[in-house]
Amino acid sequence: MADWTVADSAELYGISSWGGDYFAIDPDGGVVVQPAGPDGARVSLPALVEELRGRGQRTPLLIRFSDVLASRVREIAGCFERAFRECDYAGSYRGVYPIKVNQQRQVVEELIEYGRSTHLGLEVGSKPELLVALALIDHSDALIVCNGYKDRGYLEIALLGQRLGRRPVVVLDRPQELETLIKVSRELGIRPHIGVRARLSARGAGKWSGSTGERSKFGLTVSEIVGVIARLRAESMLDCLEMLHFHIGSQITEIRAHTDALREASRIFTGLYELGAHVRYLDVGGGLGVDYDGSQSSGDSSMNYSVQEYAYDVVAAIREACDERRVPHPDIVTECGRALVSHASLLVFDVLGVNEGAGAGFLAPRPPAEDEHKLIRELHEVWSGVTPESVQEAYHDAVRLKEEAHSAFSLGYLDLEARARVEEIFASCCGRILACLRELERVPEDLESLERELADVFYGNFSVFQSLPDSWALEQLFPLMPIHRLDERPARRATFADLTCDSDGKIDRFVAPRQEERVLPLHEPDGRPYYVGAFLVGAYQETLGEVHNLFGDTDTVHVSISESGYSVEQVIEGDSVDEVLAYVQYDRRDLSERVRRAAESALRRGDLTLQEAALLRSRYQQGLTGYTYPERES
Ligand SMILES: *Cc1c(COP(=O)(O)O)cnc(C)c1O
Repeated sequence: MADWTVADSAELYGISSWGGDYFAIDPDGGVVVQPAGPDGARVSLPALVEELRGRGQRTPLLIRFSDVLASRVREIAGCFERAFRECDYAGSYRGVYPIKVNQQRQVVEELIEYGRSTHLGLEVGSKPELLVALALIDHSDALIVCNGYKDRGYLEIALLGQRLGRRPVVVLDRPQELETLIKVSRELGIRPHIGVRARLSARGAGKWSGSTGERSKFGLTVSEIVGVIARLRAESMLDCLEMLHFHIGSQITEIRAHTDALREASRIFTGLYELGAHVRYLDVGGGLGVDYDGSQSSGDSSMNYSVQEYAYDVVAAIREACDERRVPHPDIVTECGRALVSHASLLVFDVLGVNEGAGAGFLAPRPPAEDEHKLIRELHEVWSGVTPESVQEAYHDAVRLKEEAHSAFSLGYLDLEARARVEEIFASCCGRILACLRELERVPEDLESLERELADVFYGNFSVFQSLPDSWALEQLFPLMPIHRLDERPARRATFADLTCDSDGKIDRFVAPRQEERVLPLHEPDGRPYYVGAFLVGAYQETLGEVHNLFGDTDTVHVSISESGYSVEQVIEGDSVDEVLAYVQYDRRDLSERVRRAAESALRRGDLTLQEAALLRSRYQQGLTGYTYPERES
């Protein structure tokens, strides 16, 4: 296989562009995970998956790499520390993690642990999230930023949380919340830490830009903020106003959108100070992007800036506004969610089968016999004459002959066997044409879609709706690639179909080096298991997933990597069939009982033997307690 190297695979799948140094390919063709970069400890992903399977772990499998999570926490905080030093900034960095981005307990616990030294706090947007934060955060150095719709109960819990030694900041999202807050504070005798969320006029960019602008669902206008100050002053509570908050949306693809918002927010901040509100935190929200396609562009699945550039811009904009007005530098709070957790999770699924497209028809067709139909002989001639120079003409001829053959068949001039021969030779023509096209610098326009039309369909053991919901709902790109055999040339071009019976349950847009592609190069099936990884799925995908066709949560493992190898720290079993059925109100016992009764009458009628009844019963029970995904026969 000297004509294909792992370097070719690396370029083809763009792993170093989107992998952020966490993923690479080792010389034997497997993906490696290296949380500390190329010089640190590493683990071979295919070896890991095989060993996990050996221990009885099922696929699809979500793997979370704890060290990657730890690295992201350190990296983002580190970028701000660097920016502070270089800009001579006097405030400090206080990150908070927005729970909604990935609410899984193990993820939140690990983040709190890894963020302990940098005082990573939590951002909550609802009462349930507040209850989680209050229980998990155990010191006052970490902020709990309280957003979202707040009823009296929410506010009471937040204020009482202060008595536990926590530091919740109640951010006013709507002007009406202030009166309830003042009342609750008076009743409990607790002075709250208050923030205000500003509704900026600067708009975000990208698909998620709806969280800002004058008509956004959240935040106070400047005149409402000025009203809050007057009201707090009248209550002698102005010193409670500690934070200015804004959030312009998620996956901000252009640095310009951040800087515009920062400029506006910094002015509001110094303005507050001048009105006597000595606010000490400026919370710049989330929106730090993830370069899913590795293009470093302002495309929807990318970003045209680095984390460090973002940190510099945040710090520089705030410093400039503050220095100009002689206002002390505030502590900077960020609510990065996506940028913290995306890289750490990876979904591995196996391919259950392949539906060959005509593009796979490389085999030479059997030469026509003397007495075979003229159309068959002509089509075979087209096949034998395909050259890189003649592809366009050959394709047109092949299509014309196939169409003529179809009409001849409908009119009764061609029998079934002859039609099958036509289809077979046509497929071979397409295969040959495609092989030539792939060698060409420029593909003729009318043949551009040929690759996609003739692609194979690989059936993946996963549900798009459960594991990659944004791929379906927002057409977001996630990098997908085989995790092994990368030292072999991938001869197939394919799209993925998932297990659901929904025509949207597919993936047919892929990350590619130059531009998005509609097919993904994959390897010839060889009878052994073939594993594909969907990378960067740690943010939003795990919690938005839905049980379409009753495919539930996948199994999850947490893996930590060290010089001496890896260890599996946690195994979180995915949903069993009866658990998923219970979500939609089916009771396992009731279902079994109904089937038992049906079997009983079939027995009595003599339609079912005792042996069949026993087998059905045991399979039915196994089905109820088993994994919702098909399991490979071993
Ligand atoms: C969702 C959300 C975030 C997280 O945004 P990312 O783009 O994931 O960093 C931050 N702050 C608020 C208020 C949010 O609603």
